[in-house]
Amino acid sequence: MKRRARLDVRLVVLSLVSLVAIAAGGQAQEPKTVRIDTLSVMDTLYHLSGGGANSLALIDEINGGVVLIDTKPPGWGQPVRDALDGVTDLPVTTIINTHAHPDHAGSNGEFGSAALIVAHENTKANLARMDLYSGANAASLPTTTFADRFSLLEDIDRIELYHFGPAHTDGDIIVVFPAKGVAYMGGLFPSKATPVIDTSNGGSGVAFPDTLAKAVAGIPGVSRVITGHGEAPVTYAGRGRRETGADRPWTGFMTWEDLEEYADFNRDFLEATVRAFRAGLTVDEAAATLELPERYKDYGMEHARANIEAIYDELANR
Ligand SMILES: [Zn+2]
Repeated sequence: MKRRARLDVRLVVLSLVSLVAIAAGGQAQEPKTVRIDTLSVMDTLYHLSGGGANSLALIDEINGGVVLIDTKPPGWGQPVRDALDGVTDLPVTTIINTHAHPDHAGSNGEFGSAALIVAHENTKANLARMDLYSGANAASLPTTTFADRFSLLEDIDRIELYHFGPAHTDGDIIVVFPAKGVAYMGGLFPSKATPVIDTSNGGSGVAFPDTLAKAVAGIPGVSRVITGHGEAPVTYAGRGRRETGADRPWTGFMTWEDLEEYADFNRDFLEATVRAFRAGLTVDEAAATLELPERYKDYGMEHARANIEAIYDELANR
């Protein structure tokens, strides 16, 4: 059964080249470009790609502010603002960080208008250990933290934050827009590929499948799933050329069924690794002989060896 729903999405696209910095050595740096696409939910929810990770922006007209979910790497605040300028004049008043990695929380300090920065309590602790948030930059640490659940705003703008346990880090949260049927997964579901397991920030390959299974069981009413990385919600054919036509499947959105499959993928990966561990295989042997069900054949396996190693370490230290 083909799972990926085709979505009727009206796209507002602004491709903005915000900055071409010339480095001291005379070499041009990559321009920082953020593309903004509407998720076509009452024209209030937008997808921001660029800088290596995806972000979302909710335009909260009632309270007169933008809620920015993940801020991209350091230096990406202005490109994000430039992209937002195409759809709203409202300032970013609230930031949500899904976890403590610089590609998701790196530009917090570049939104001086944000009085509220929300994250899991472990995310704040993880960020506080980083050079990026030392000294004066500590002012950009999360201002409000929680352990399991948190909610913001009301009615159609309501945002529910969930934490189900360690996985990518120990502070991963899922951002759910219940009235819009949308969930943003951050590093818990980066794309259809092996995830990164950051054990130095409390991540766990053993817990990863359980954490995802709890999310699948514990979050109601979501049809569109936005991954933390991967393609924007549109199919491109070649650089800069928009692929059009009603028959083209959108490639950026995942569905709830995709998330269920991703939870199964991580479960099957863990079980295969545990079998290899118990059989006495080395990490390299386990990686070389890893076999997963056919339905994951298109999954990216870039982090497979690193994840096997992380799981081995966890199993050995039990
Ligand atoms: Zn991450």
